[in-house]
Amino acid sequence: MAPPPDYYEVLGVSRSATSDEIKKAFRRVAMESHPDRNPGDAAAEARFKEASEAFAVLSDDEKRRRYDRMGHSAFQSAGGGTPYERIDFSSFGEILEGLFGDILGGRRKGRVGGDIEVEVTVSFEESALGAEKTIAIERRQSCSTCAGSGAAEGSRVSPCAACQGRGEVRLQRGFFSVSRPCTSCGGTGRRIEKPCPTCAGDGSVPSSEELRVVVPAGVEDGSVRTLKGAGERGQAGAGDLHVVIRVAPHPLFQRDGADVRVDVPISFPQAVLGAQIDVPTLEGKVKMRIPAGTQSGKVFRLRGKGIPVLGGYGKGDQLVKVVVEVPDKINKTQRKLIEELAAEMGEDVHPQRKGFLDKLRELFE
Ligand SMILES: [Zn+2]
Ligand SMILES: [Zn+2]
Repeated sequence: MAPPPDYYEVLGVSRSATSDEIKKAFRRVAMESHPDRNPGDAAAEARFKEASEAFAVLSDDEKRRRYDRMGHSAFQSAGGGTPYERIDFSSFGEILEGLFGDILGGRRKGRVGGDIEVEVTVSFEESALGAEKTIAIERRQSCSTCAGSGAAEGSRVSPCAACQGRGEVRLQRGFFSVSRPCTSCGGTGRRIEKPCPTCAGDGSVPSSEELRVVVPAGVEDGSVRTLKGAGERGQAGAGDLHVVIRVAPHPLFQRDGADVRVDVPISFPQAVLGAQIDVPTLEGKVKMRIPAGTQSGKVFRLRGKGIPVLGGYGKGDQLVKVVVEVPDKINKTQRKLIEELAAEMGEDVHPQRKGFLDKLRELFE
């Protein structure tokens, strides 16, 4: 197979061409070589394909940089094939329509159904561990009375006379052939003698349905799951369903990437003497040892008790911040003991306080 031609040569521009120059050059080449204007001309079609491929790469800053650096190998996978097949052309139709408007417009047969967006709220635990949710959606379904044809029982569906069933009308305007969606049939290419009473000739009816949606473990608030083809049904295919996942806040846990943060109160004696405490995790309570002399605010890490890494391997950790609580009410005995403790320790011997006073002195001397 011959090596693919240089993209800049295909469009006839220099390597330093601006995006505007590239757009203009592509428009010129595509106008000359468009298959609609050169029916049966294989060379013109090949040229149009080459130009489209070159434009798809050079009009995208990221892809252009990669191509400049690595040439065609930037878009070649181990599987071979031409780059044309592997470049994402999903938005390319829109680019062409934006560039050429009427000249390429109206080529689509019928309309594609619209996309639907729904929100589903999951609990913090469900977002971390995964869940299956039922969602209710409203979408258009193929009409069961007429099996989607739009015609009443016994009535005929014939090709539209105005466009000969093509759904578009083509007009020769000097140099250009301009096509527009046919107005007599609304672009469907069909003429219905008597419309179906259930769907008024549309072929589809609104319906509400329930769908099961799998919420993967590790999903984040605001992330979107797209179910291809689960949107509105149209004559040229169904749109997509976008499920926006909302994660409800949790009273104890906070998410930090794949880690879970939680604050756990401990008492002054526990902090001083050390203790074994219960810590809540996503999978229930676990025991955690606190060493003697733990300062308030110290963070302990429970490995692997966090959230699974979405689409990856492993889990995050749970970060437990211990907060030493000061009791707001104490009884007489406790008061007496604490007063004795204070007398025993004395104000100046507390290590952290001493450090603090030293620092204060350094600051002002
Ligand atoms: Zn028509
Ligand atoms: Zn119907």
